[in-house]
Order: sequence, then C-alpha cells, then structure tokens
Amino acid sequence: MKDILSRLRDEHKIEILFNEDLTLYSRLRLKGSRGDVIVAKSEEDLKIIVKALSEKDIEYKIIGAGSNQIYPEVSQIPYLKISSHQQTTNDIRINEREEYEFDAATPLFFLTKLAIDHGLKGWESFTGIPASLGGAVFMNAGTELGEISQIVSEVKIITKNGQEKILKKSRGELPFSYRKNLFVCKGDVISKVKLIHLGICENVGDKIKKYQHKRSTTQPLDKYTCGCAYKNFNTLSAGKLIDLTGLKGFIINDIQISHLHANFIENKEKGTYSDFCQFVKIVREELLLQYGIKFELEIQV
Ligand SMILES: Cc1cc2nc3c(=O)[nH]c(=O)nc-3n(C[C@H](O)[C@H](O)[C@H](O)COP(=O)(O)OP(=O)(O)OC[C@H]3O[C@@H](n4cnc5c(N)ncnc54)[C@H](O)[C@@H]3O)c2cc1C
Repeated sequence: MKDILSRLRDEHKIEILFNEDLTLYSRLRLKGSRGDVIVAKSEEDLKIIVKALSEKDIEYKIIGAGSNQIYPEVSQIPYLKISSHQQTTNDIRINEREEYEFDAATPLFFLTKLAIDHGLKGWESFTGIPASLGGAVFMNAGTELGEISQIVSEVKIITKNGQEKILKKSRGELPFSYRKNLFVCKGDVISKVKLIHLGICENVGDKIKKYQHKRSTTQPLDKYTCGCAYKNFNTLSAGKLIDLTGLKGFIINDIQISHLHANFIENKEKGTYSDFCQFVKIVREELLLQYGIKFELEIQV
C-alpha cells in the first residue's frame, strides 16, 4: 500500500500524511490511534486517489469533519480526508436560484450562517450539528427540527472507479432513513451536494438561535464527544433509558457518560479506542439486560 501512496504523492502531488496521529481527526479525541491519511483537496484529487486505490483493491475510509467516527489503534487501510477551499457567505447568491451547490467539505455552521442571514426555511434542521456537508448527508444528520435529507435535491458522487455519478431526488435516487443514506455504495465518495430551501421565512434565524441556546444547555458541547452514542430504538430514546438505569456519570478509564445528557459519552482526556469500545459494550449489555433492547451505535467505528 505504501508504494501506491508514495506514487500519489510523487506523481500527482497529493498530500499524504504517513503514520499520522489521528487524535485530531475525531471529535472524541481518543488517544493512540495512528494511520496513513490521504488529503483530497479537489474533485480531481479525489478521482485520482480512489481510482489508484481501487485498481489495487485497497479499501479506504472517508473522513469528513470526524464528528461521528473513531479509529482503531492500528489501521490496515488508509484514510481519505475530504478537504476544500473555504467559501465565504458573500460567494453565495441566495434567491437567484432554487438550488445551491456546495462542496462536500463545507462545514454545516457555514450553511447555518447563510440560513440565518437569508431566512432559508428547512435549513434549521441541522442547527448545531458539527459536520461537513458530505458527512451530514451520509449520516442523514438531523435534530428535532428535521433531517438534512428534506432539503437535499442532488448529490454528486465519485465512484471508486473515479467516475462521476449524479443522483437526483426528483428521480427517486436519494432514499434516506433514520441516520443513514441508502444510496452511497462502498468506495463511493460524496463530492458535491445541492440543497434547496422550502421558501424564505424571517423566523428561521430566531428558530435557529433559540435551538442553539437549548442545545448548549442540554448537551455537553464543550466536551470531547461524538454526539449521541446510540441510535434511538423506534420511539424509545436511548438517552432516557440510559438515564433511567442511573448510569449518568458512570466512568471507566477516562470515558464517561455525560452528566448533562445520558446519550453523550465523553472522553475526559486520556481515553483510547479500546477503552471506548469496552465502555460502549458494557453500557449496551446493561441496556439489553434492563430493557431487552440491543441499541445500535450511532458512532461509526
Ligand atoms: C457535539 C456533537 C453533537 C452532535 N449532534 C448531532 C445531532 O444533533 N444530530 C446528528 O444527526 N448528529 C449529531 N452529531 C454527530 C455528527 O455530527 C453527525 O453524524 C455528522 O453527520 C457527521 O459528519 P462528519 O462530517 O463529521 O462525518 P464523519 O464523522 O467524518 O463521518 C461520518 C460517516 O460519514 C462518512 N463520510 C463522511 N464524509 C463523506 C463523504 N464526503 N463521502 C462519503 N462518505 C462520507 C464517513 O466515512 C463516516 O462513515 C453530533 C456530534 C457531536 C460531536
């Protein structure tokens, strides 16, 4: 694998970070994980990288903003970090078109700023979610105000062969369900996303600010977490059930269930990947024992 990565670096000037410390690539900041990171700074980079890896049958794992994933201590496969040039809100002309195209690396907070400035209805659905647009679409990220899938009209994918593929909602090609998409195949990379808005409404800014405030008082946003650890089970809230078991504050090896929100698991500082996996297994078994429900992890391991 190393020779392919060196070739990508030498022949195509693609940035490769060998044996990189992955602490900063996950919002949980687990210690001790390392791996080779390939940085794709453009769509052209992406095509070259995935084609070269796929030709040699090398699997890869895509990293967006790393808000919902953790990495094993040693990885046999490289990581593909999606990056892009920073747009400013002045670059985007709202109201001239019905659809707006953004790079997959665009941070959601940038889109939230646009929504507040222009009252873009529907865009409040992802308020406060720390994510790249590509990662949010992959996960069908959402809040109690809605899901991002409601405003996605088109997704551009680079397939593992380096080909472009356009999927449109109007053709029924963008199915989603709770916290997942049903159209990204293994090796596919989301490269661009078109969003629509459901009209202009002055209240959207207020709605977003109110919800931001609510989140800041009910979730440990200043701690190292990956958001909700477990998916809800139908209408049963994982957080509520963990709370009822009395596990809030439960801690082993610096990994702890948040005092503020029982479905948030915090890394106090020194937790590792193994510590985390062991911890979530214990909590999951306790939930199974108490309620007979096997809660699925929302975090991508
Ligand atoms: C404090 C906090 C609060 C959170 N609150 C919420 C919330 O309210 N609602 C919610 O839904 N989530 C929430 N999350 C979880 C997280 O923000 C979302 O899951 C988000 O969608 C992850 O996006 P990301 O860019 O960080 O993706 P990553 O975590 O980097 O990746 C997530 C998955 O998407 C894949 N992926 C990423 N980019 C691409 C791409 N371009 N092409 C193909 N695959 C890709 C990755 O391989 C991985 O499987 C929260 C997280 C934190 C830390």
